[in-house]
Amino acid sequence: MLRSTTLQRLRPAVFRVQRWNSTTTSAPKPSTTHSDIVVVGGGPAGLTIAAALKHYPETVNKSVTLVEFGSLDNLKTWGPDMERFENRVSSLTPSSVEYLTKIGVWEHVNRDRVQAYRHMTAWDGVSGSKVQFNTTQLMGEGRDIAYMTENFNLQNGLLKQLANKPNLTILDKTKVEGVERTPESHNKPLVKLSNGSTISTDLLIGADGANSPVRTFSGIEARGWDYNTHGLVATVRLANEQQSAWQRFLPTGPIALLPLPNRFGSLVWSTTPKMAAQLKQLTPEQFVMMVNCAFNLEPTDIEYLVEHPDEIMTDAPYRLSQRSSNPDVPCPIVAVQDKSRASFPLKMKHADTYIAENVALVGDAAHTTHPLAGQGLNMGQGDAQSLAIAIRNAAGRGADIGSTLTLEPYWADQYFKNHKLLGVVDKLHKLYSTRNPLVVGLRSLGLDAVNSVKPVKDFLMSQAS
Ligand SMILES: Cc1cc2nc3c(=O)[nH]c(=O)nc-3n(C[C@H](O)[C@H](O)[C@H](O)COP(=O)(O)OP(=O)(O)OC[C@H]3O[C@@H](n4cnc5c(N)ncnc54)[C@H](O)[C@@H]3O)c2cc1C
Repeated sequence: MLRSTTLQRLRPAVFRVQRWNSTTTSAPKPSTTHSDIVVVGGGPAGLTIAAALKHYPETVNKSVTLVEFGSLDNLKTWGPDMERFENRVSSLTPSSVEYLTKIGVWEHVNRDRVQAYRHMTAWDGVSGSKVQFNTTQLMGEGRDIAYMTENFNLQNGLLKQLANKPNLTILDKTKVEGVERTPESHNKPLVKLSNGSTISTDLLIGADGANSPVRTFSGIEARGWDYNTHGLVATVRLANEQQSAWQRFLPTGPIALLPLPNRFGSLVWSTTPKMAAQLKQLTPEQFVMMVNCAFNLEPTDIEYLVEHPDEIMTDAPYRLSQRSSNPDVPCPIVAVQDKSRASFPLKMKHADTYIAENVALVGDAAHTTHPLAGQGLNMGQGDAQSLAIAIRNAAGRGADIGSTLTLEPYWADQYFKNHKLLGVVDKLHKLYSTRNPLVVGLRSLGLDAVNSVKPVKDFLMSQAS
């Protein structure tokens, strides 16, 4: 049973508003304008909630201001070059795509740059045990597992859908520098911008990423830990066209290769910060060789070669040639796109609550997760959908869109769902980050069992989608 202190932590943070309020004294300045809703953050989550609000008749006339610190110019003018793919790519689940279609966004996403896949192989890099998903066998013909999409492609589609919407202001190159509440603002948030202006609002939505200033300003705690692992991403060129996803669990972290159109692939190699730095320093030829090694050689060989880069081009081809041919690994990688290697520290973090009076958090502002299950952005899409519906319902009956009563259905809908997923992903990461023979034996038994029991596979696939 949950202890009462835990319950208090999980309840919407209505009780925190007084503390936040008490630090402020200034009255609204003459430059203060009002916007019914202010969204902070022009990432996938912020743009999706704005697009959803502008979709529903009940909310389309609400004034919405979206504030983004960075420039959106590159996103707006982003033109497709089929010989280059961005390195920030996400696998969108069918449910995410279904909602994006419903709110009119998916038709603006460049489909030539989206790769659907129906096969997925994940295997244990220590024992070799594997699980394979094939939706054409499991869920019937025509079901895709996910859709690989550059984050830029999605954001570009969202901006196209938002173009010329009524009562919408997008302020990019503008930073939210503070949020206060005063008696004059009736305790509602006053959002202070870097351009010197202030916006008063009925609902402040924090879609401002993992270090969310809105979360901090509203006194909502977030708990979790660093994995002491970096996610190295790169765009690679494959020897053949691929429509399958591959993930090998190495003791240093999983390496995943996901298909993109035109023989491109998106690589996410989660590993130690030291190894990520070493991999980024390799020449393109050495890097390509190391990626092929990572899908084929023993973990100790991989670690040895990364430590001895001078031996990669001489030693690795011999070691690879000694492996018997295996149909259950991806086809060889033949090139890495220049300037596409980058790495990000990986963390698990979950906010104590997603809502306070006149405040809601969505996307990475509310939760961050290890990329091994490809769910971070999808969770943000689920948040945006659920929050937009809660606001729509309140607006439809003329209720206060910022009250915790309005926002509570969103919190109730998403919090525990996300909490469960964060927990599963965290346990998977820990389970596969060990070489302990007992744990390796048990996890391999589990993987083999999943692989051989169709109803279990069906269930897992439906959950993942
Ligand atoms: C290596 C890696 C691989 C991943 N792969 C997948 C995958 O396959 N599938 C998946 O679903 N997810 C994946 N994810 C997770 C996914 O990338 C994130 O969950 C998602 O991008 C978060 O989107 P967001 O809009 O919530 O936040 P962000 O994209 O971080 O956007 C937040 C925005 O807020 C702005 N901002 C911050 N502070 C301020 C301020 N004070 N004023 C104004 N603006 C501000 C920032 O400039 C930023 O643009 C992956 C993550 C990593 C690291």
